[in-house]
Amino acid sequence: MLQIDYSKKFDKNKYYEKISKKRFNINITDDSNKIIRKEFQNINDFLDKKTIKLEEVYNKFKEIKKDNFHIIFEGISFKCLILGNFRTLHKIKKRIGTSDDIKKNESIKFVFNYTELRETYISSFFEDNLTISTCYYCNIDYINSYNVDKKKKNKFTLDHYYDKSTYPYLALSLYNFVPSCYACNSKLKGIKEFSNLSPSSIKFDFNQKVKFRLYLTDSCKDLNIKLEKNIDIKLKERYSDEYEKYIEVFKLNERYQAHKDIVFEMIKKAELYPESRLKELQDLTGINYQQIKKDIFNLIDDNMDLSKKPFSKLIKDITQELNLI
Ligand SMILES: [Zn+2]
Repeated sequence: MLQIDYSKKFDKNKYYEKISKKRFNINITDDSNKIIRKEFQNINDFLDKKTIKLEEVYNKFKEIKKDNFHIIFEGISFKCLILGNFRTLHKIKKRIGTSDDIKKNESIKFVFNYTELRETYISSFFEDNLTISTCYYCNIDYINSYNVDKKKKNKFTLDHYYDKSTYPYLALSLYNFVPSCYACNSKLKGIKEFSNLSPSSIKFDFNQKVKFRLYLTDSCKDLNIKLEKNIDIKLKERYSDEYEKYIEVFKLNERYQAHKDIVFEMIKKAELYPESRLKELQDLTGINYQQIKKDIFNLIDDNMDLSKKPFSKLIKDITQELNLI
């Protein structure tokens, strides 16, 4: 629903540094290290080393043609997989695709092991480098971070836009992550796939193309709305239907029905405070007419990042529907 704004303090190279810091101990003899021990203990380059970096593992697997790494990832660097923008990821996904061989490839699973890096490397990067407030898929729930005993905790889940079990090689890709609420990520989206539009893409223009529209039941066409049930809100896309599946997958229309009270309240306020009343208040208080309007209707500034507060998109679209700005 809302595009992720990476412009502030988001340094993708820091993510790469973090992921690159992941090291495997070559000499540990437990099961978790089986692949590393088997492949690296006897290779001359690594005889005098105690640890090996994740990127080195990737490059070595290509070099020794492990599990077809040299074919699958031909011409694709580790950095490109980790930091490639959404368009690049889409191209890689199209080229490598998905098959049982890919999904069951133990070496791919080993290198791109999300579960192992999730807490310490990935979630912590998002906590420190992106101001996350609400779910980018729905704009309904807060998913912010908070502190407990000086330690950061968070309310977000990181959705893999391209599912990690279908495309395991994209499991650590920065622009494949969408901070989202539990309902959107686990209960609704799951492994479902829809076109190549992700809130992490610079081409994601849901907010421009899709708007909340207000509908009134026949009995109140004169705008004399008495009850919440007399109104209906629906997301409508203009001139195309690219986001139809997106709206359907996240059950956006159905979920927003439960929040019609916000719109009902806006309509009631619009009735209570017509232009003439607002001008009276201006004369009475000396406060600028536009400011009074903004305060009463909680109007949202044009340049405000809509992801900062829940329902910002709904409020902004309905403000236009009611001609409040
Ligand atoms: Zn959500």
